[in-house]
Amino acid sequence: MLRLTDLRLPLDHSEQALTDAIAARLGIAAADIASHSIAKRSYDARKRGGIELIYSLDIDTPREAEVLARLGAAETDGAAPVAGKPASRTPAGKSSAPASTGKVLPTPDTAYKFVGRAPASLPLRPIVIGMGPCGLFAALILAQMGFRPIVLERGKAVRERTVDTFGLWRKRVLNPESNVQFGEGGAGTFSDGKLYSQISDKLHHGRKVLTEFVQAGAPEEILYVSKPHIGTFRLVSMVENMRATIESLGGEIRFSQRVDDVLIENGQVRGVVTADGQQLRADHVVCALGHSARDTFKMLHERGVYMEAKPFSIGFRIEHPQSLIDAARFGPQAGHPILGAADYKLVHHCRNGRSVYSFCMCPGGTVVAAASEPGRVVTNGMSQYSRNERNANAAIVVGISPEDYKPYDDSGSPLAGIALQRHWEAQAFALGGGEYEAPGQRVGDFLAGRASTALGAVQPSYTPGVRLSDLSASLPDYAIAAIREALPAFDKQIKGFAMADAMLTGVETRTSSPLRITRGVDGHSLNTRGLFPAGEGAGYAGGILSAAVDGIKAAEAVAMSLLGGIDRA
Ligand code: FAD
Repeated sequence: MLRLTDLRLPLDHSEQALTDAIAARLGIAAADIASHSIAKRSYDARKRGGIELIYSLDIDTPREAEVLARLGAAETDGAAPVAGKPASRTPAGKSSAPASTGKVLPTPDTAYKFVGRAPASLPLRPIVIGMGPCGLFAALILAQMGFRPIVLERGKAVRERTVDTFGLWRKRVLNPESNVQFGEGGAGTFSDGKLYSQISDKLHHGRKVLTEFVQAGAPEEILYVSKPHIGTFRLVSMVENMRATIESLGGEIRFSQRVDDVLIENGQVRGVVTADGQQLRADHVVCALGHSARDTFKMLHERGVYMEAKPFSIGFRIEHPQSLIDAARFGPQAGHPILGAADYKLVHHCRNGRSVYSFCMCPGGTVVAAASEPGRVVTNGMSQYSRNERNANAAIVVGISPEDYKPYDDSGSPLAGIALQRHWEAQAFALGGGEYEAPGQRVGDFLAGRASTALGAVQPSYTPGVRLSDLSASLPDYAIAAIREALPAFDKQIKGFAMADAMLTGVETRTSSPLRITRGVDGHSLNTRGLFPAGEGAGYAGGILSAAVDGIKAAEAVAMSLLGGIDRA
């Protein structure tokens, strides 16, 4: 199989045009193409009215060896790409294919390779704490290798959890153990389900994640579109299907089982204690807590597990009409079914040295209440697969670092960032009126420095509701100044971004973990053997895909430790 990259075609090309372009690029007849499949499809929307699709394709042709000798290189493992010749040259030297600088290579082998298999008898089963994407994949891989993990999840199974989450959104009742952050599926279950990440992934772990998701019910297209998403509705049933797979392989999943203590003897984990007092013995514990397990972070710190404060970001959610974003990004081709609802990614470096950027953009989605502690308000965003809600939303956040945490906790504790988060989440709760409504403000009023008294054209989507106020009291002054400077700058990239009626809702404080539970190259905690910190809460991931990939790495580290460091099978 050949992998051909960077083949560009107009948005509305025909199937025949694709076949012709492949043939022209490879310098073969269309009849020589036995089959082709899309490995990746993205788009280039820089040219107004002339959006191009960019393909990577896998091609089966009997002329593979000859094509490779002519255009590519005889690499077989896919690990070391070698540049092919400019693709617009046919064997006769005539230029015929669309302009491109792509390559022709052997299709890389992206199949997942397990690091080993569990022995027939295992004295102690590994434990996974948390069943977010990280814990889910740690457990799945361990189960697939035969290690029969036990998963302890503080929240409820996903259907019951959904009821509790709606309890906050519709009835203002927060369940601190079962909410947007806690429960089966973890923080990303009620989300846009974006599945892309910037992590370097030489071993194709991301491919393993996407393949498992498809097996669990995700649409096949996530395997090839450049910015795949799933949406909330499907995620719920996928998580259930993955639970069934883990259980069928001998794994065990226990809900409403919060880990309140870890047993450590001479720097080695020996087990955990759950909130109901049960002791479970284990020498290998994956700690996949997510970024909101503040009580568990505190417990681990008190037990002496090494951790350090790390930077994260704070800000607001912004909402615009999705049609405004679509028009700005796609011009006359807005609404094309291949493109879907447009997204954006914006960054501005401010005069006060801060950087402001858009984060977790949810096209055609809603802003959601994402608090996990009583008396606090936190925003986030979600959408359904169709992304057809009226508003686009994204977090607009300012980078902060441990120096910024000192006014809230100057003890030098690695937990200081949590004190900052709690302060501003409580302030948002108060500004919102104390009943889980979020404070909100029109962008025009925010930029003019006056409280909002009426909504404009953009209706905020946050439930249970938005209370109009002055958001300048809801974040530190430097953050307010930075966001005030950034919004007009963003308007230069997306016309209308700083429109007076766009809505800001606050506060966005859970962008990533405020600390890192540092681990060594072997995956063990720096000072506690047998504890495997992983995922977003440990500071090693940001987002569903990267957390899931980190879960795979944690499972591999556990297996290597249990098997005494054998080589990848
Ligand atoms: P989590 O998903 O947070 O899972 C941790 C789990 O551990 C939780 O289920 C928790 O209950 C459990 N736990 C914690 N403490 C204990 C304990 N003591 N005992 C037992 N269990 C415990 N990312 C994207 O890539 N795309 C998106 O579209 C996206 N949208 C999002 C929308 C929302 C509303 C939210 C909140 C997040 C979104 N994210 C998105 C971020 C993404 O969800 C996280 O990056 C990801 O879930 C992190 O995975 P994780 O497994 O490391 O942690």
